[in-house]
Amino acid sequence: MPQWETLILQPDKNKEVFIETSIMTDYLIKDRATKTKVDKILSAFDKNITSNYVRMEFKKGPLQYLVYLHNKTITCKSMSEVHQAISKLSYGYQRHRLSTVLEQIESFYKRYYQTKPSEIIKEYGDLSLDDFLREKAISYFGNLIRNSWRNFEKVVDELINETECFTDIQAPYKKGTNKVYRNTPTTCKSSSTKCRLKDFFNENHYTFGDMLKKLQEIDSPDQETINRIKSLKEILRLIKFRNREIQVKDCWYCSDAIIAVEAPPKASIFHNNKQHYEPICEAIEKKSISYN
Ligand SMILES: [Zn+2]
Repeated sequence: MPQWETLILQPDKNKEVFIETSIMTDYLIKDRATKTKVDKILSAFDKNITSNYVRMEFKKGPLQYLVYLHNKTITCKSMSEVHQAISKLSYGYQRHRLSTVLEQIESFYKRYYQTKPSEIIKEYGDLSLDDFLREKAISYFGNLIRNSWRNFEKVVDELINETECFTDIQAPYKKGTNKVYRNTPTTCKSSSTKCRLKDFFNENHYTFGDMLKKLQEIDSPDQETINRIKSLKEILRLIKFRNREIQVKDCWYCSDAIIAVEAPPKASIFHNNKQHYEPICEAIEKKSISYN
C-alpha cells in the first residue's frame, strides 16, 4: 500500500500527553491564568494520561501542604497566629511547603481583599476582620483540598499504574470533632498491597541504565540530580538480589525517573521542570514538553 494511503486510513488520532506532577499541581491548585495556560497546551492532544505515582506525589507534596495550611487555620486562634506559624517554616528543607503555602495565602487574600465591610456585616453581623478571614480561610482551603482531589481523575482520560503503587490511595479525610483533615498514609509503603516497583525496575533496567549514564554526564549537577544518581545506582544494584527491597528514600529520589519510564512510549511528557525532565526524557528517547 502506498504510504499516503496508510496516512489517510490511519489519521493521527493518538496524540497523547502524559501529565507530570508539577503540571497536575499547577492545574489543580493554582490560579485561573495558570489553569488556562495548561488547558491551552492540553487542547493540542487527543488523550490526557497520568499515573497513580503522580497522584501519590501530589498527595505527599502539594496536597499535604494544603492540609497543613487548612489545619493551621483551624487550630490557630487567629490569622496572625497562622502567619506566625508559616514564618517559622524553614527556607531550606521545607522550601516546597513554604512556597506552596505562601502562594495559596496570596490567592486567598486576592479573593477576599475586595470584600466590603457592609457585605461582611450583612453575612456575619458584627465580627472582627480576623474572625471573618479565618472563617473564610477554613472553607477556602477545605474546598481546595476536596476539589483538587476530586478533579485529579477528571483531568485525564486514563490513569495508569505500571508500578502498581498505592492501589488503595485515599482522599484526605476528617476525623474527630475539630474538623482538621488527615492525609495519612501518604506513601506507598503504608499501602495494604505490596507494589511491584522492584519488578518494574527489573523489566526496564536497560532504560534506567541509559538514564543513569546520561545523568552522570551532567556537568556540575544539583543536589537533586546527585541524589537521583546515587539512588538509581543503588536500586539497579539491589534488584539483582531476590531478598533485597527498594528503600522508600531511593524510590522518592528516583520519582521523576520512574514517572518518565512509566509514561506510555508515544506520549509527550508535560512538565514544568525543564532542568530535571529534559535530560531524563532525552536519555530514554521520550518526548517532553513544557511552558515556553
Ligand atoms: Zn510503590
